[in-house]
Amino acid sequence: MRIALFGDIHANLEALEAVLADAAEQGCTDYVCMGDVVGYNADPVACLERVRAMDCPVVKGNHDEDASGSHSLESMNPVAAAALEWTRVQLSDEQRTWLRRLRMVRQVEDFTVVHSTLDQPAHWNYVTNRFDAMSNFSYQFTQVCFHGHTHVPRVYVKTDKVQEVPAESVMIEDGSKYFINVGSVGQPRDGDWRACYAIYDLDHRLIVFRRVDYDIESTQRKILEAKLPSMLAERLADGR
Ligand code: ZN
Repeated sequence: MRIALFGDIHANLEALEAVLADAAEQGCTDYVCMGDVVGYNADPVACLERVRAMDCPVVKGNHDEDASGSHSLESMNPVAAAALEWTRVQLSDEQRTWLRRLRMVRQVEDFTVVHSTLDQPAHWNYVTNRFDAMSNFSYQFTQVCFHGHTHVPRVYVKTDKVQEVPAESVMIEDGSKYFINVGSVGQPRDGDWRACYAIYDLDHRLIVFRRVDYDIESTQRKILEAKLPSMLAERLADGR
């Protein structure tokens, strides 16, 4: 069984379609979404409906929460806030309700899924080093946990200590725990503009990261046509 783990789509329909096509080609039969379906880019409705139609486990991201609420976004960075205000207008009440009802943590097969961290999932903490990862591991009761949120693919392994290993192929070995950031479909920030996701091959206990080309010009054009901040289009090309 091969499961595609994808998240931080951020309303980038071209990237989402490219990832789903690649996953099908790679023999994935099951899908799990790390959240942040909307925010930043210009296709929130199409991305939400595409993910919803897949009827797969989805956890809630901070942008899903902000897009589905009516609270002030003043404390947020102004570019993200502008995109979220715009996103709120695009979505129907019913679509916002779907986002609002997403769960924070899911268990799927023998692994856990969360958008940010398991220690305080509603606080949206960023895991950028092994010390952040340690806090998560205290609350991780499955051998493997997948997450997103930073838009950077990362692998933390806990044996007697916690260390970060390169985000390449990962063999799941007895006696270790794994906390794995699957990267971002729709707004990668590791310097590589291509859409990122991971495949978990349960039979071989192997996790691989995939990078997928997509039609970035169309995504950028739609952002500008929607009059969203132009830096949202520019950053896609830089992978930042
Ligand atoms: Zn995100």
